[in-house]
Amino acid sequence: MEKEVYTEYRAEKLLKKFVPVVKNQLVNDIKEIKFKKFPLVLKIISLGALHKSDIGGVKVVGNKEELERGFKSLINLAKKKRLKLEGILVQEFVKGYELIVGIKKDSVFGHVLLFGAGGIYTEILKDISIRACPITLKDADSMIQDLKTKDILYGARGEKANVGKLKKNLVKISKIPLRYKKIEELDINPLIVNKKDVLVADARIVFEK
Ligand code: ADP
Ligand code: MG
Repeated sequence: MEKEVYTEYRAEKLLKKFVPVVKNQLVNDIKEIKFKKFPLVLKIISLGALHKSDIGGVKVVGNKEELERGFKSLINLAKKKRLKLEGILVQEFVKGYELIVGIKKDSVFGHVLLFGAGGIYTEILKDISIRACPITLKDADSMIQDLKTKDILYGARGEKANVGKLKKNLVKISKIPLRYKKIEELDINPLIVNKKDVLVADARIVFEK
């Protein structure tokens, strides 16, 4: 079956209609950047580089000099790898706890929602909860209770997260397939949660055509 893949930039543009996405701007030239504050995150956006950090395609920059250096290095990386560049995505840097939220189309259950611990330990922790889409607020709560690492969200280390907002946004994400039935796979990793916000900071979508 033919597929269509959305890079982070396109995926976040779609997701913005449903859930909060980290502030971002896609640029081709450093002069276009409108952000005034640091730190910022720079990312290479190309269908040829869907796992950006695997190739060194994600840079956190703390000042103007690092921005210039980081930007140049991403442009050079794209040239070296002969990537067809959509652009460089510039994002606000957000602190918080990293979660993953995914949707998969299952041949038996239809669209299912996956939710769990994100970041670099995703694969090791395998701390994931699954429900059929769409979910209710009550389901969202029970998905959080399923997690072995849930105490982190409730402030085990003082890193309290806005759990109320998290639940509401899980419900909203679970309803996306009602509008976009051809979603075969949606990966949000990370969804960053902190005391105040719940923000998508990376995403990828695969549609069946
Ligand atoms: P990849 O394509 O490799 O998954 P990501 O966009 O997820 O690239 O970036 C890699 C990692 O960088 C993320 O898992 C997260 O830890 C961090 N990161 C990405 N974007 C942001 C951001 N806007 N603020 C803070 N950290 C970020
Ligand atoms: Mg990611």
